[in-house]
Amino acid sequence: MGDYRVLLYYKYVDIEDPETFAKEHLAFCKEVGLKGRVLVAKEGINGTVSGTVESTNKYMEMMHNDPRFADLTFKVDEHEGHAFKKMHVRPRKELVTLRLDEEENPDPKELTGEFLTPKEWREAMERDDVVIVDTRNDYEYELGHFRGALNPDIDNFRELPEWVRKNRHLIEGKKILMYCTGGIRCEKFTGWMIKEGFEDVAQLHGGIVTYGKDPEVQGELWDGKCYVFDERIAVDINRKEHVVVGKDYFDGKPCERFVNCANPECNKQILCSEENEHKYMRGCTHECRVHPRNLYVQEHNLTQEEIDRRLAIIALEEKVAQ
Ligand SMILES: [Zn+2]
Repeated sequence: MGDYRVLLYYKYVDIEDPETFAKEHLAFCKEVGLKGRVLVAKEGINGTVSGTVESTNKYMEMMHNDPRFADLTFKVDEHEGHAFKKMHVRPRKELVTLRLDEEENPDPKELTGEFLTPKEWREAMERDDVVIVDTRNDYEYELGHFRGALNPDIDNFRELPEWVRKNRHLIEGKKILMYCTGGIRCEKFTGWMIKEGFEDVAQLHGGIVTYGKDPEVQGELWDGKCYVFDERIAVDINRKEHVVVGKDYFDGKPCERFVNCANPECNKQILCSEENEHKYMRGCTHECRVHPRNLYVQEHNLTQEEIDRRLAIIALEEKVAQ
């Protein structure tokens, strides 16, 4: 592994003037040579940055010297080179987008679910009176999730309240265990759950990433990989066994390789083998395959004759399958 590291962190804390904060923060990040994405809001900070050991140390030191972030927990991963191309610090209205009304919106500093350590989570998972809910998006779940977790099958975090209201019967009366990548979504959402009237709501402290690093549980009962929002795309969690749960978008075979649909207007993220990427010209539908700006066609300089040949094979197979 290289001399670079990736830092993942967040904290719900009052930041008075996110705009000014963002400007100054960006200047510092650039000065020490970091790349990444940081969001700043009145309710706190959320970031992933990459850099050399030296620059990431400088960054963590600077943050810990600020009383607001003195107790900030950094999740640190080794990495070869940067995990981002640029450095962005953006002021936002919310750290995680729920777009709730004022009175419905929970303040994690005042109301949040019970925190479980990785060890407590591991034990709770095997109880009969619990239900595990994945609070992430469908494509994140598809690549990997805790064994037995419910998949709300949402495209976006802000759809989760609606899913809960429609599926009360699945979770009511049980201890509800909620998890996400690093913990930020659950810290807010478990507060909303309590406001909604659910009594026993718990969250995995530090999220999936922390669970995978815990020396005792070593990511046990996690299947597949964990989706991350940087160039790595997926990281390993379970260090005891690796069960592939991802399925190829086209043929359903075990797959953990993500690609974006080659139609730039679609850009849908799908799991797809190298073989099927070529076969389907990285298009998630027929329309995406024949889109005039299909990036796969451009990258491979495909002639119209070759495109037609591949389309004919797909059409023939679909006919046979019917
Ligand atoms: Zn598409």
